[in-house]
Amino acid sequence: MKDYPRIIVPPPGPKARAIVEKDTKYSSTSYIKEYPLAVARGSGVMVEDVDGNRYLDFMAGIAVSSTGYGHPKVVAAVKAAADDFLHICGSDFYYAGMADLCEALAKVAPGPSKKRVFLSNSGTEAVDGAIKLARNSTRRAGLIAFKGAFHGRSYGGMSLTSRSVKQRAGFGPMLPEVHHLPYGYEYRCDFRKDCKCDLTCVSSIENEFFQRHTSGKDIAAIFVEPIQGEGGYVVPPPGYLKALRELCDRHGILLVFDEIQSGIGRTGKMFACEWEGVEPDILLTAKGLGSGMPIGAIIARESIMKWESGAHGSTFGGNPVCCAAALVTLDLVQNGLVQNAQQMGERLMAGVKKLQEKHKVIGDVRGRGLMIGVELVKDRATREPNAEIVKPLEEMAFKKGLLILGAGKNSLRLAPPLVVDAEDIDIGLKILDECLTALA
Ligand code: PLP
Repeated sequence: MKDYPRIIVPPPGPKARAIVEKDTKYSSTSYIKEYPLAVARGSGVMVEDVDGNRYLDFMAGIAVSSTGYGHPKVVAAVKAAADDFLHICGSDFYYAGMADLCEALAKVAPGPSKKRVFLSNSGTEAVDGAIKLARNSTRRAGLIAFKGAFHGRSYGGMSLTSRSVKQRAGFGPMLPEVHHLPYGYEYRCDFRKDCKCDLTCVSSIENEFFQRHTSGKDIAAIFVEPIQGEGGYVVPPPGYLKALRELCDRHGILLVFDEIQSGIGRTGKMFACEWEGVEPDILLTAKGLGSGMPIGAIIARESIMKWESGAHGSTFGGNPVCCAAALVTLDLVQNGLVQNAQQMGERLMAGVKKLQEKHKVIGDVRGRGLMIGVELVKDRATREPNAEIVKPLEEMAFKKGLLILGAGKNSLRLAPPLVVDAEDIDIGLKILDECLTALA
């Protein structure tokens, strides 16, 4: 028997309320704060709040806690690395953990070409570095990204983002020469209703955009999420990534896969692009890489990562404690968790499809492994988005002991830690069913 979910005080309890009150008084008003979860500790897929309530986590701290909370091997590696030294600056000096992690990432990245690795502190820093690398290596300025994309909060990441106007409003001017084009989003195709996808979203880049707007010769890189994350957990149609690859090759454009959310085993492969067998020129990872320790990476073909010494660096990037966490995380994901993500993902997907049969509010279900999106609509025929139900669903699930999150304006994301088991999946589905029955 699991000892979670277990709600002993309706959340937020008194201790959580005190934290929320202080935080609200002093922290930046820009924080989102989805619901009043105030965490004391976690173990596996369980998160305990400061009042002793225990939750089943289906969001993994926004797809980060890949190995679950407090995995003993990760914690031991972090403690051992911290005992040795906390910092020396990997941009300027050497240590085994950094060399080992660069090697491990270069070898685990998909495709036959030899890779090199730059280590960052976060996803957005990896995105920014990749913009610099792409411009520096092609000597072109143009960047293509997609509608619904989320690439982070720095000026580079924000300029590539087109998920919500809130994330851009009042911050202009953005980086110049960034173009947003329609993503391979079959359920809401920009080109035709009831799309039976023939990849017009890709061919139009060449046939329309490069003809009317900007030459392919002026584009340095296409940035794409192999599964759109913040935009709604959208899986593009089969052949989409391959078609982008071929288009890039025809025009000397670099293909950058932002796998910051979809990578490190989440989709049941180490990287989501492996489902399509497509090798990018530059691959970005962060989030799940350090099991919660802040680390990201730019993994590029050696033929591209040739910028000169001093062209790019970072004081903290590749911090030794984070490298230790990442090395253990990669090992755990490669040796068991990636398979678990695939198996548990199938179970979760089957369960959500059953919920779709029962609840008309579920318009579309999609995903791979433990990256599943549930798109909510007011009417299945018109597909009118039901954005209003997302927050009440999140809040009701929270009160029942299940942590979930929205994605896009009218989808739920289901992204538990990769250590989730069959019983956890069934409990989560049951709570979700109860919430949908009460609210839809
Ligand atoms: N790229 C993608 C696909 C993401 O999902 C995110 C974060 O959600 C980022 C970039 C930004 O990462 P970070 O929040 O670590 O800066």
